[in-house]
Amino acid sequence: MKVAVLALQGAFIEHENMLQKLGVDCVELRQRADLDKDYCGLVLPGGESTVQGKLLHELGMFDVLQTQINSGLPVLATCAGLILLAERISNDQAVYLATLPVTVRRNAYGRQLGSFHTEAPCQGLGTIPMEFIRAPYVEAVGPGVDVLATVDTRIVAVRYKKQLGLSFHPELTGNPAVHKMFLQML
Ligand code: GLN
Repeated sequence: MKVAVLALQGAFIEHENMLQKLGVDCVELRQRADLDKDYCGLVLPGGESTVQGKLLHELGMFDVLQTQINSGLPVLATCAGLILLAERISNDQAVYLATLPVTVRRNAYGRQLGSFHTEAPCQGLGTIPMEFIRAPYVEAVGPGVDVLATVDTRIVAVRYKKQLGLSFHPELTGNPAVHKMFLQML
């Protein structure tokens, strides 16, 4: 079983380390040709969604990735990755892969609370640690989207079909619960 990790920018190594600890081989996606490799899941890491979105277009990876996700490739998307998946960004004109029927707000916690650590219950996992770094949250969900976690009434984790979208960084906490849940979806 191999899981692809988008490795253009951002916190992709941390996801690879977590997956490797769980005994999973990773394939790094850096160029168009990598999308022909054999993998049964995809991780979209945190980082800067504007940069990642631009690179996906420039490298000719955008359409293929979008088709793979729409065809049912399971995805774990964290932070900037969640922004890439969202159908709408309420405070930005941009829209990227648009495979996940949610509206997100970028940099939603403002400057003061740009980065913080907390713990909160996540459906099926109990209470888990959550690392927020200039994070988005989900403002609205479409039909068929399950809300898995909220922090202070804000939605921070959702699932839609095989897409798992998180505002926070589970790969930075040392707690493998979210990655294990993702592996069960493959
Ligand atoms: N603020 C970033 C963005 O808008 C997301 C931050 C992150 O991925 N940690 O893309």
